[in-house]
Amino acid sequence: MLNIPYGRQSIDQADIDAVVEVLKSDFLTQGPAVERLEKACRDACGAPFAVACNSATSALHIAYGSLGVGPGDVVWTSPITFVATSNAALYCGADVDFVDIDPRTYNLCPNALEEKLKSAKKLPKVVTPVHLTGQPCDMKAIRALSQNYGFKVVEDASHAVGARYEDEKTGQCTFSDACVFSFHPVKIVTTGEGGIITTQDPELAAKMARFRTHGITRDPALMQETNPGGWYYEQIELGYNYRITDLQAALGVSQFSKLEGFVKRRHEIANRYVEKLSGTGIGLPYQLPGTYNAYHLFVIQVENRREAFAAMRAAGVHVNVHYIPVYWQPYYQRFGFEKGYCPRAEAYYERAISIPMYADLTDEMQDQVIEVVKKSCGVAMSV
Ligand SMILES: *Cc1c(COP(=O)(O)O)cnc(C)c1O
Repeated sequence: MLNIPYGRQSIDQADIDAVVEVLKSDFLTQGPAVERLEKACRDACGAPFAVACNSATSALHIAYGSLGVGPGDVVWTSPITFVATSNAALYCGADVDFVDIDPRTYNLCPNALEEKLKSAKKLPKVVTPVHLTGQPCDMKAIRALSQNYGFKVVEDASHAVGARYEDEKTGQCTFSDACVFSFHPVKIVTTGEGGIITTQDPELAAKMARFRTHGITRDPALMQETNPGGWYYEQIELGYNYRITDLQAALGVSQFSKLEGFVKRRHEIANRYVEKLSGTGIGLPYQLPGTYNAYHLFVIQVENRREAFAAMRAAGVHVNVHYIPVYWQPYYQRFGFEKGYCPRAEAYYERAISIPMYADLTDEMQDQVIEVVKKSCGVAMSV
């Protein structure tokens, strides 16, 4: 029987050696490897600043908090995302609201955003587009609205390390204030647990670095006391312990060196899926012109999702669904959201299945997956 997950990490000997080397070094956390990870990320995406931390959830909290999101504010995002995108706004004491998706890209729809902004009683402090599956959102349109309506833009690029939007690399922040990546093992590059925020704004970067470590600074220019000695530091804001370890950061540096190859392999897999599944009646992904997908996920759309999903799982192909609309969650229902709020997101969700997509998936395994997918969807569709 097959046993193929929808996503998983690729770890080689160089990754293992990098972690072992840290174990033998002087620093296990917040040492030189963290700086090397931040540099690797800056080099990969062309942003001048990067702040690494222990998860993308923390990264979102750091970004929102450092942009001043707090009680009385509202953050808008797509309902088709992992709950972390909106939970991080709740951590700040803010409210959240949802903008419906573009039915072709499954990403937050700029037209729906504009309509919602026009009639909003309260404008959002931050809008968080999510680059679902690794396909960049229409960032120019979202940036234009942010300039007109005065909100900040935080990209949730957890799926999109290695993606491109026109001439810019995702994470470059040409059309946003900050961009968040996740290094969870199912994502494109991994640190076990980990995340990072990139920005072009030096003040925001310094603020985010303080937020990561209790709001503490050692910068004399920011202190009240003139430096009484080498031990001295001041806590000037309320921050958290969101530090990433050097063990994780060293793994991340090694992973970043393979980023291009990982994404290239994901494209080969995507192209083969498209080639072998077109004309079967299975809905395949649409690509926004001018964008380069990082292909964290490969999502198909099927009529009878429930049966197709069960058949694939039963055959050992461990498909998944990304995502249940966030406001359907019982915890979010208490805020008064009702089913039907974002009809296009709900229609997408009802048909979505993520089939296996990761760099180590071989052609042979993929052929087995394709057979199972065809059979499962065929059975499902004739019901
Ligand atoms: C994975 C993911 C997150 C959270 O990432 P962690 O690193 O696990 O905290 C947030 N948003 C999206 C869209 C994700 O896919």
